[in-house]
Amino acid sequence: MRELLASGFGEVAEPASESETNAPQTAGISAGRVVGPVATMAVTNKPPAQGEKVPEAQRQGELQRALDSLEQTAEQLNQQAKTADPTAKDILQATAQLVCDGAVRSRVSQLINDSGATAEQAVWDAFSEVVIRFDSAGGKLAERACDVRDIRARVVARLEGRELAGIPTSDKPFILVARDLAPADAAQIDPKTCLGLVLGECGPTSHTAILARALGIPAVMNSGYAELHDGQRVLIDGSTGDLVVEPTDEQAEGARTAPETSASVDFSGPGATADGIPITLAANIGWPQDVPVALANNAEGSGLFRTEFCFLNRSDAPGVSEQEAQYAQVLRGFEDKKVVIRTLDAGSDKPLPFVTIPGEENPALGVRGYRTSWRSPQILEDQLRAIANAAAQTGNSPWVMAPMIATVEEADEFAKLARSYGLKTVGVMVETPAAALCADELFEVVDFVSIGTNDLTQYTMAADRHSGELAHLGTPWQPAVLKLIAMIGKAGSRTGKSVGVCGEAASDPLLAGVLVGLGVTSLSMAPQAIGRVGTALAKYSLESCRKAAQLALATSAPDAAKAAAEIALQA
Ligand code: PEP
Ligand code: MG
Repeated sequence: MRELLASGFGEVAEPASESETNAPQTAGISAGRVVGPVATMAVTNKPPAQGEKVPEAQRQGELQRALDSLEQTAEQLNQQAKTADPTAKDILQATAQLVCDGAVRSRVSQLINDSGATAEQAVWDAFSEVVIRFDSAGGKLAERACDVRDIRARVVARLEGRELAGIPTSDKPFILVARDLAPADAAQIDPKTCLGLVLGECGPTSHTAILARALGIPAVMNSGYAELHDGQRVLIDGSTGDLVVEPTDEQAEGARTAPETSASVDFSGPGATADGIPITLAANIGWPQDVPVALANNAEGSGLFRTEFCFLNRSDAPGVSEQEAQYAQVLRGFEDKKVVIRTLDAGSDKPLPFVTIPGEENPALGVRGYRTSWRSPQILEDQLRAIANAAAQTGNSPWVMAPMIATVEEADEFAKLARSYGLKTVGVMVETPAAALCADELFEVVDFVSIGTNDLTQYTMAADRHSGELAHLGTPWQPAVLKLIAMIGKAGSRTGKSVGVCGEAASDPLLAGVLVGLGVTSLSMAPQAIGRVGTALAKYSLESCRKAAQLALATSAPDAAKAAAEIALQA
């Protein structure tokens, strides 16, 4: 477990072994170093007061009150989504759908009609049952439990005619401290005043983490968050997970005290190192609506179009023409820029009812990604046909790649199939250690690879990518992960083929330098991260990137790898 850097926070008690057990867990969630005063988020999640049993004659009216409140809450979230940042918009819309969940409405109706519960109590109990189910399921669903708790608080507050306390407001920059942020609160974060985030419970891929990275707000997860209080000065480092209370000037040196402004990110592309070696900087997208956001952030195209996002709420398979329309919109939007379309990556934390089978014992190691095509070959064929049609329709010829490849045979099989549809540039994602270890052989059958560092890290370190508790293992700075990336980079250089990174690692400006030094030729990330990564890369020479990579590879821990890279890249 990482040690918490603390002065006056989480005081260390003797004996030493006990202090280790009691030390708060801490992890970096979103890169960047900032120092500022704490503002804590008020706790609003309190159960309603026990009411009298509702007489039978009034139960219909009571049910209507509950249903109205659910609908109004969903409507408020949908309204908020209209003006939100694109990442927040998707999260808010998904939350609004949870509010209207049919099973919850039936349970509320049952509790009121059969047991005479008040609307407040019925709503509280129905959502609490969902919270318990999500919490006990663990992983991604456990992260959604926070959203359900927030919905519960919102609907009950509306029924009681109360306002919920949201994000603290201040005209001075502050570091927000909370257990976790519900989507509706996270969407309210103003990057002009919110300098950083300290979260008590937050997995590296939770919605708050994704949003923080998209907005460029440094964030750490620290289980000792509740000990912080308003006005205290703290230093956080979102790369290392360090948190220092009342830091000395020396400790705080170089940390930002004001939010990043567009003036501090002066980047208009294209991506290149200080000595002019081009490194394509592209955007990860999930829907056609993301294209204008990508372009506004100077993306040189998309290095990862997660097509499964277009169909997450579908129970039936989308037809060829429906898919073609979506892909054509993306290809047209990017005009002649490069677009890498990934075929459906269904399964594990992204189940698609029309292709995945529920109830798999261990879905992260199950039939996911490319493997689903063994069960449903027609779905992959339809998708390839739709991509080929969209290419013909728009004149923009996409690159296409398959997710979750573990063997060279799979890569070969996919490449042959994709080429049979006239798709010219075919690749695979490297997300498994098996694929990384066979990088040389992979390049014999495909035109390019793209490294999915989120899954590659999870499978290399055997640490669930959604686990906050294992975040210290689940970082791409782990030397074992860097060694695998080095193997892929070398194989790419030998063949002159493109090696991309499209996992979260690409959005860390320091790690980006190391990746380039390891042989990576393109980086694809959340659009909002492009400016920071581009600005950083423009300061590094290829030689310093190579030096950073060499030094990082020679370390035995993520912190040491970062420190080594910092020295090489800031020299
Ligand atoms: C990855 O695994 O790094 C990746 C980009 O794929 P996803 O995050 O969609 O699993
Ligand atoms: Mg992946």
